[in-house]
Amino acid sequence: MSAYDVDAVIVGSGPNGLVAAVTLAEAGWRVVIYEAQDTPGGGLRSEEVTLPGFLHDCCASNHPMALSSPAFRELGLEREGLAFAQNDIPLAHPIRPGETGYLRRSAAETAAGFGSDEKLWRAVMGTFGDRWKQLGRAIGNPLRPTPDLIALGAASVWPTPWLLKLLRDERSRAVLSGLAAHSIVDLRQPATALVGVALGAFAHGVGWPVAVGGTRSIADALIARLTSLGGEIITGTRVARIEDLPRARAVLLDTSPRDALKIAGHRFSASYANSLHRMRYGSAAYKVDWALDGEVPWVDEELRDAGFVHLGGPAEQVIEAERLVAKGRMPDEPFLLLSQASKLDPSRAPEGKSAFGGYAHVPFGFDGDITDAIEARIEKFAPGFRDRILARHVTDPRALEARNANLVGGAIDGGVPDLFQLIARPRLSLNPAETSDPGIFLCSASTVPGPGVTGMPGRLAAQLAMKRLG
Ligand SMILES: Cc1cc2nc3c(=O)[nH]c(=O)nc-3n(C[C@H](O)[C@H](O)[C@H](O)COP(=O)(O)OP(=O)(O)OC[C@H]3O[C@@H](n4cnc5c(N)ncnc54)[C@H](O)[C@@H]3O)c2cc1C
Repeated sequence: MSAYDVDAVIVGSGPNGLVAAVTLAEAGWRVVIYEAQDTPGGGLRSEEVTLPGFLHDCCASNHPMALSSPAFRELGLEREGLAFAQNDIPLAHPIRPGETGYLRRSAAETAAGFGSDEKLWRAVMGTFGDRWKQLGRAIGNPLRPTPDLIALGAASVWPTPWLLKLLRDERSRAVLSGLAAHSIVDLRQPATALVGVALGAFAHGVGWPVAVGGTRSIADALIARLTSLGGEIITGTRVARIEDLPRARAVLLDTSPRDALKIAGHRFSASYANSLHRMRYGSAAYKVDWALDGEVPWVDEELRDAGFVHLGGPAEQVIEAERLVAKGRMPDEPFLLLSQASKLDPSRAPEGKSAFGGYAHVPFGFDGDITDAIEARIEKFAPGFRDRILARHVTDPRALEARNANLVGGAIDGGVPDLFQLIARPRLSLNPAETSDPGIFLCSASTVPGPGVTGMPGRLAAQLAMKRLG
């Protein structure tokens, strides 16, 4: 008789918990997931939060990371019916009404819109874009450096303003700064440009698609695979102590460092527990979703076709906004990241209407109300926007954390991904998913390679568990 009830227990059913579970189940392990919320998926949830018939992604909406990630490619979730949708304009960055930088699927067409920066953009972004597969693999497991990772690092490990010195055109500068702002780190810090270059390269390589039927389709596909392999998910159960779980060879935590400490802190060495305690969380998100009558009436008409919109003004304004947010102050005009998901996937809204949404970067734990400032900023670039609002739904940092304990203080990064915490995540180790307890692994975005729907923290943790525990 086995000494264990199951082979592995996974706490949390975000993309990393689900990918870890599927990886183990495919190897024949008996797996059970415990999820605090009533619905599984973590950052992969989509719900009709505004009006019936309008489907909004609750967190992640656009998926350059998933498409370029080896974890998702190897799983082949199209067999479970997962499909993505996109068009020729992954991203647009309006600078002022009527003046917009466009990031197109084609690096050559993008570069052609960037005036004197045409050659540089095509040479750098075009080359990285052509090598998206190698780049995805390199970023997915950065502690095993490949020539592509070294090339990416050499080109862009700098603070964003340094890299911007090479660019002259206002549009290319704005687009690159907006991409780099996805790091959610003060852009004057090193390695922020790396995020910008990688996300730009992925736009050329795989695009910035949305999942057909909402991001929740990614969770549905993973769950379908898991259950077909005999895996189980128990929802509505927030795990407080490891002793409450069934006996298992391995426990994988798709949790924040804070919950990892609550659940298993007494099993960790003082030094490992300390590294979890010391983890610094980054800026937060303030999310708003709108049900719209028609589409956003952008002044610049081509903007209506973009899958994603960065509303941040010129590069200098983006850098200043991110600097203030990182310092705990709210800029007058927040940097907005907006997904026009129903443009790419019309199944998300009734005919003639749109499910529109996005978020602003705000300080950690921010408890103010900036809905009006967000709408005012959109209105400036799209006069008449407010008249089209049928309903809105606001999820501020506190509400984000209430819906997902991993979003500590509303921070969406699982620990600020500055250069130090990108590598020491949560501490320096060639196997960052390992803890000081041989049977417990960390598999969330709080370990390498960090935030985003890549499934790689889950994949690497599951592979390590199998290697260590057979
Ligand atoms: C507003 C927002 C927008 C985003 N946009 C994008 C995007 O467009 N593209 C992209 O790639 N990424 C995006 N992200 C980031 C992405 O969603 C996350 O990096 C990713 O979901 C992290 O996955 P995870 O599995 O580590 O954790 P999560 O997805 O956060 O899931 C963790 C799960 O664990 C559960 N849990 C936590 N503690 C416990 C416990 N003690 N017991 C039981 N269950 C527990 C939680 O309820 C949750 O379901 C966004 C995030 C946010 C918040």
